[in-house]
Amino acid sequence: MRVAVLAAEAVPYSKTGGLGDVAGALPKALKQIGVDSVLITPCYLQTKGEYLQKIALDDLQVDWRGTSYRARVFYSEANGSPTFLIDAPEYFHRSSIYGFREDYERFAFFNHAALILLERIGAPPDIVHLNDWHCGFAAVEVAKLRRWNSYWRNTRTVFSVHNLAYQGAFGMEELWKLGFGDDFSRNAFAFNGAASALKAGLADADMLSTVSRRYGFEIQQTENGYGLDWLLRQRSDRLFGIVNGVDYDIWNPEADRQLPAHFNQNNFEGKRECKRALLQKFFLPENLDKPIFASITRLTAQKGFELIEQTVGEILATGACFVSLGSGEKSHEEFLQRLRDYAPSQVGVFRGYNEDLSHLIEAGADIFLMPSRFEPCGLNQMYSLRYGTIPIVRAVGGLDDTVENFDRVRGTGNGFKFADFRADKFLEKIYEAMFAYYEPETWRKIQQNAMTVDNSWQNAARKYVALYQMTRQ
Ligand code: ADP
Repeated sequence: MRVAVLAAEAVPYSKTGGLGDVAGALPKALKQIGVDSVLITPCYLQTKGEYLQKIALDDLQVDWRGTSYRARVFYSEANGSPTFLIDAPEYFHRSSIYGFREDYERFAFFNHAALILLERIGAPPDIVHLNDWHCGFAAVEVAKLRRWNSYWRNTRTVFSVHNLAYQGAFGMEELWKLGFGDDFSRNAFAFNGAASALKAGLADADMLSTVSRRYGFEIQQTENGYGLDWLLRQRSDRLFGIVNGVDYDIWNPEADRQLPAHFNQNNFEGKRECKRALLQKFFLPENLDKPIFASITRLTAQKGFELIEQTVGEILATGACFVSLGSGEKSHEEFLQRLRDYAPSQVGVFRGYNEDLSHLIEAGADIFLMPSRFEPCGLNQMYSLRYGTIPIVRAVGGLDDTVENFDRVRGTGNGFKFADFRADKFLEKIYEAMFAYYEPETWRKIQQNAMTVDNSWQNAARKYVALYQMTRQ
């Protein structure tokens, strides 16, 4: 089976969030189980030069908005699978990866160029796997091409929703400039008086998936459907949930290159060393006996950071530490700054994005806080599990699928989970976790349960292969 994965970001070439992790790891995992997979992604200003040593094509001719655009295409295998990086400086050499008024045009170009590239590089793919709104354009284009272009006749599309909140909306009047002026396309894109690339993907892809089972149900409800729940319900026989995997080559406490010491479920000495290093990093006193609570996140409404704001005072009152890595909404950033000023010996704050530090926090912290309002899959709770850093999560989306509440009597479970989006419910779990932390045997048990969970990509990739096979039938 030949599969082409298209994504707006992919590790290690680019990353702003979970999508990057997934898009980098899935093609590799597919390849490892015998699927002929390629990844196609843009080449950004932020993509490191070391991945751009090989030029695959110097002259990819893309007919675009009435002119002929020549793009360069780089080739790399840095993520473990053949990858083509489309280099169009006008669109992708920018100060950031997203956030421009004409993002819809940038990614429409990327989709169109990716399909032309596929035609240039070989036999047709059986499946084009599209990810999030940035790739909704290709779902429509493949559906159209299939009718008259024999290259595409047997190709099917899978569209994965990593986050329904981002819709890629723009004016309907732009459609014709992007080559989608016909009625078929307009129908696919039309949504609430505007065009939505997300809706186009959901409407025209042959198969749909979300990044957890629970999220797949949630987005079919009016409250979480962003106005698209009707379409998802209509297509629910074509909608499947597959929880993302973890790339254990990158996230493995036994071999993680960012860590000062290593550990596993049978030997926690290294975790203590990591805790010491983490405290040092944030200039906190070296008290190894009190728990460190941690958060690594984009500070957006999705992540429920206000619940952390409402409870962190109680955490600090017990003498525990709190460390935070992330940036986002100003009010949250300011809160963190004030918190740090208020308790400099218990609070560590790093505003910004820092890959290395995220590894040290996962390894050195004891308890990971993730009280999201909604969470399509969530990766940090899975990284936390592997590093024996016990997650406290809200029972939504992928958090519900991957974290099992600890049951004292049976000794089962790998974390703590609450349902209502309320500070008192969150705090109950925080106290419950802290209570368990101070019982070394109980804590060890939870850590061992957590560290032995198998969230590997091989598992997830097999489920994708089954989905691809179903799509072709
Ligand atoms: P989302 O995609 O909604 O941001 P996920 O939990 O699915 O959430 O994925 C987030 C990814 O981004 C994880 O790999 C996490 O470690 C990483 N991440 C988020 N914020 C930061 C940050 N400030 N520094 C380093 N890594 C971060």
